[in-house]
Amino acid sequence: MPAPPCASCQAARAALRRPRSGQALCGACFCAAFEAEVLHTVLAGHLLPPGAVVAVGASGGKDSTVLAHVLRELAPRLGISLHLVAVDEGIGGYRDAALAAVRRQAARWDLPLQVVAYADLFGGWTMDAVARSTAGAGRSRSCCTFCGVLRRRALEEGARLVGATHVVTGHNADDMAETVLMNFLRGDTGRLARGGGLGSPGEGGSLPRCRPLQLASQKEVVLYAHFRRLDYFSEECVYAPEAFRAHARDLLKRLEAARPSVVLDLVHSAERLALAPAAQPAPPGACTRCGALASRALCQACALLDGLDRGRPRLAIGKGRRGLDEDARASAQSPRAAALPSF
Ligand code: SF4
Repeated sequence: MPAPPCASCQAARAALRRPRSGQALCGACFCAAFEAEVLHTVLAGHLLPPGAVVAVGASGGKDSTVLAHVLRELAPRLGISLHLVAVDEGIGGYRDAALAAVRRQAARWDLPLQVVAYADLFGGWTMDAVARSTAGAGRSRSCCTFCGVLRRRALEEGARLVGATHVVTGHNADDMAETVLMNFLRGDTGRLARGGGLGSPGEGGSLPRCRPLQLASQKEVVLYAHFRRLDYFSEECVYAPEAFRAHARDLLKRLEAARPSVVLDLVHSAERLALAPAAQPAPPGACTRCGALASRALCQACALLDGLDRGRPRLAIGKGRRGLDEDARASAQSPRAAALPSF
């Protein structure tokens, strides 16, 4: 049976049905609709004002590739300029190939590229070294806990190097729903309360950060990359299978099979969540070492690096934080304080 005509242009044959709406569209009309929806997200949320210098967190993967491509299409209408900022975490057998994809994108789209490396920013620590340090007797399960915190700091540093006023990341709706689910499963009310919305306005001297693809489903991100013939790196990080996120992803897939709207429902739930007054954390202050925003004596990045330097990486995770914080107040001028860039 021939495909139906495109519901938008009526001229071409439909090439897909949109996963959420079921609308039959040709590739060109789908891509135009996808870009219009991202434009609406940015404008309605006041995410990127005219004149913004935007650092796009570029990993070489599908999400950041689609984000960079869409924002490049929209840049003239939004009045923004773009820089790609890539983070080299130091993951052998994975990151070099992903960075090669980012370099090809920068060349093809004529976008400036800044690469920042964990080894340079964090006193020689790479993710491979962190994995060895945290592995104990088996494989490390906490790599992504370290990497998530350090990557956020590295992206901020890269964005400052290029004079950016805003940072954008390629998180899509599925990523956000997984994060909400993980925070629920860990009982992490602080992150749940902070995690809603389309980004953060830039507290404590950090740059405003947003996620223009947060309402786009992973399936549509893949479809957009396919119809726009985008060149991206699709292999999974070697540490990803050990991450707790993998369990949340599996659970979400099963929930989605029973209730297709579950991904967006979770994203919108997080936007509306508010902590009861008695459960509110204390207002954040400044890290005693680097000055970044911190809810304890040390920010997360300094706490994790401190534990690694002491040869006790788990010190900075969970209950071990308390002892670290007390030490930190007494030793705000440690050698690590000089290694992490100050805010
Ligand atoms: Fe880092 Fe984990 Fe992502 Fe690998 S999967 S790049 S370790 S956050």
